[in-house]
Amino acid sequence: MDSNQNNDIIGDFSLICPECGVGNPKNTENCIVCDKDLKHTVAFFEDDPFDLEITEEHLIEYRKNFWGTDRTGKINKYALNKIKKLEFGSSISRLIFEYNRKRVILPLREENLIKIKEFLK
Ligand SMILES: [Zn+2]
Repeated sequence: MDSNQNNDIIGDFSLICPECGVGNPKNTENCIVCDKDLKHTVAFFEDDPFDLEITEEHLIEYRKNFWGTDRTGKINKYALNKIKKLEFGSSISRLIFEYNRKRVILPLREENLIKIKEFLK
C-alpha cells in the first residue's frame, strides 16, 4: 500500500482477511478468496510478534512464532468494552491498556499503531 497517499486509506479492498491476508472490499460479508466470515471484522493488522484483528466487540491477538512467519495458535481475545486506560505509546510504539485489572502492552509497528488509533479511540 502506498503510504504517501492521503489519510483516507479506507478505499476498496482495504479489509485484510485475518485468515488468508487478502484484501477485501470494506463491506464484504465473506472473504473473496478463503470464504472466511468477515461480517464482524472491522480491521486487521499484520505485525511482527502477532497479528491483530478488531471486530465489532473484540480486539483479537493472534500470536506468531519468533520469526513472525506463522501463527502459533495462541489467541488472546479482549472485549472492547472491558479495555480500560488505553494508551498509544510513542517513542517505542506500543498499545497499552488495562484489562481485568492487568496491564497489557503490545509492541506494534508504528504504522499499525497510527491506524489502530482510529478504530479504538
Ligand atoms: Zn481470506
